[in-house]
Amino acid sequence: MTAHTGTVPSCGTPAWLAEMTEGSLALRRPSRDQALAVLRSDDDVLLDVVAGAARLRRAFFGNRVKLNYLVNMKSGLCGEDCSYCSQRRGSEAGVLTYNWISPDEAAGEADRAATAGAKRVCLVASGRGPSDRDVERVARTISAIRAGHPELEVCVCLGILGAEHASRLKAAGADAYNHNLNTAASNYGRICSTHSFEDRVGTVRHAAGAGLSPCSGVIVGMGESDEELVDVAFGLHDLRPDSVPVNFLMPFEGTPLAGYLELSPARCLRVLAMFRFIFPDVEVRIAGGREMHLRSLQPLGLHIANSIFLGDYLTSEGAPGAADLQMIADAGFVVEGAEEATRPEHRRAAGGRVVPPLRRRGLGTELPGNA
Ligand code: SF4
Repeated sequence: MTAHTGTVPSCGTPAWLAEMTEGSLALRRPSRDQALAVLRSDDDVLLDVVAGAARLRRAFFGNRVKLNYLVNMKSGLCGEDCSYCSQRRGSEAGVLTYNWISPDEAAGEADRAATAGAKRVCLVASGRGPSDRDVERVARTISAIRAGHPELEVCVCLGILGAEHASRLKAAGADAYNHNLNTAASNYGRICSTHSFEDRVGTVRHAAGAGLSPCSGVIVGMGESDEELVDVAFGLHDLRPDSVPVNFLMPFEGTPLAGYLELSPARCLRVLAMFRFIFPDVEVRIAGGREMHLRSLQPLGLHIANSIFLGDYLTSEGAPGAADLQMIADAGFVVEGAEEATRPEHRRAAGGRVVPPLRRRGLGTELPGNA
């Protein structure tokens, strides 16, 4: 199949798009060509693409928007050289730099987050990966947060993680671990020289192996090709993440990618839609760069993604929380409550793996079978 980007039948949705939407509703992964067709679709079918993705979003997540809140526990001072990052070694971005905040300070941030409507706090620290001492510190931080807000989901993001540290974080009460693949393996060497794509894949595997809910996504707009974007999306699909943050590059001054502005709001929608078609029943989160790149089309993004960050990012400012809550309400969505499960029921079974639904009706039961 080639990329169908041309004419629109007068009856409405292009046939290739309708076929892909039905496939994703049935949890069949789109083909590479279909994913590429989304990225390369013409402006005259953009709203059809959004509508197809919105169908999936509604089918699996209703009108709920999950809010996540970032807590930057250690800012700057990193020895790694990720070229997109304002905290990298040699960065002249002028970001705030500080060493580990205390568990009580983190708990105070979590309290603010919960009050503002966040369901998940993401405890992030710059650096290649945690030491034993760092993991202990984060364990104490999780306890401090849990004491005040047992209902909050706690995700940890500390860089490259081994199996032992992953188990320790799980035992300390962490729910999830974030480590993004960021970009395709073929593009990785261009954006970072101090660790590898394989290091990142290994970390996601260790987190999942320890029973932490795997959260892993991308940064879009770093010079990758459409094919590379599909590569990393399919690579993520193989890792079976529970949540997929889609970041749009924020090109900080003082970093190698300063001035790199290759995204338009429409491109961002196509990228989000591609991820939704590949991950119909997985939390797709609009992450960093939402305000900068989607701009006035952010409400359309909510029709595709079911999750966003509330408030500020790690080293840059986001929109005021009240403005985002207003946008969510104006677009006809509701904030997901702490008591509501994000993942559809079939993904919660068996630790998030998709499993065939066991028959509990028809022969051998007292219920009539589906016919
Ligand atoms: S390891 Fe993390 S904090 Fe350090 S440069 Fe890379 S992305 Fe930034």
